[in-house]
Amino acid sequence: MPGGRGAVERGHGCHATARSSAFPLICDRVRPERSGPRSARRYARGMTQWLTVAPGIHQRRYDPFDISIVVIEGSDGLLLVDTRVQPSEALELADDIATRFDRPVRWVVNTHAHFDHAFGNQVFGPGTATDAAIYGHANIAAHFAEFEGPRLAAWRADPGREPDRQWDDVVLTPPTHPLVEPLVLNLGDRLVELRPQSPAHTDTDLVLFVPDERVWILGDLIEESGPVMYGSGSYPLGWPGVLVDLAASMRPSDPVVPGHGRVVDRAFVERQAAELGLIADRFRAAHAAGLTPAEALDAHDDWSIPVDALGGAVERAYRALDAQGEARV
Ligand SMILES: [Zn+2]
Repeated sequence: MPGGRGAVERGHGCHATARSSAFPLICDRVRPERSGPRSARRYARGMTQWLTVAPGIHQRRYDPFDISIVVIEGSDGLLLVDTRVQPSEALELADDIATRFDRPVRWVVNTHAHFDHAFGNQVFGPGTATDAAIYGHANIAAHFAEFEGPRLAAWRADPGREPDRQWDDVVLTPPTHPLVEPLVLNLGDRLVELRPQSPAHTDTDLVLFVPDERVWILGDLIEESGPVMYGSGSYPLGWPGVLVDLAASMRPSDPVVPGHGRVVDRAFVERQAAELGLIADRFRAAHAAGLTPAEALDAHDDWSIPVDALGGAVERAYRALDAQGEARV
């Protein structure tokens, strides 16, 4: 069922899928009992060859984690979006690109700081054979220091946990071009807009927009092949508004590439915005009513994503709301 949604159909009692045994470290979504066959099904479903989203814009979904890698062709070279999980996977990606395309990668863009999107940076950056410029949100270096660095240290300290991983090989490589403001890259015969976002999935989210084909690349601001991830450094209260604003700039037929899964459209973004908006509204209401975070989750039995994936989200929302309350005092 390539590209199908199957067991994780959104809004139909979907259940979280484990992306790896490592994920409990960064996401309360995944409980050990949920790993196994579901995750295997997800991985098997995701892997693809290069898929043409629009002329000169290609997505390939890589295992593990069904990560969207995107290549944008320009007359002056290739722009690569995200770099996979570890250097060995990034090297495989570099080989795949060299096989499929006839020009070099000149630009790399990270959609956000999470390891599955940025731990291959070192293979493409300065001093490598590729020697590409790496663009990303200006907060990525700080996010690495707060979240990805400690995560990496924990994984290195427990090598038996994932023997197939080479965490010792990872050198955290933040963007060479950290962005606070939007930037337009000129690929020779096409422009690509890089738009850093307000805090949402993380405080490092960056959206790419290719105006000539009206293609959007949203990273993990949306996910198609599984529920969105309230992972490390998420902003449950601000996230819905970011999606609403993005959807307002989209046309109905614009292709939208998610961080994980099939290409979707504006209506999908609007649905996900509404789902996340309802979650945020419930957190605000529960906080205002004096409920504990656990009581906030118990107050409803129809969450759009698995309730056991919301523990970290409600905690982060409550911390933000507590801080707002203290600021008003
Ligand atoms: Zn992410």
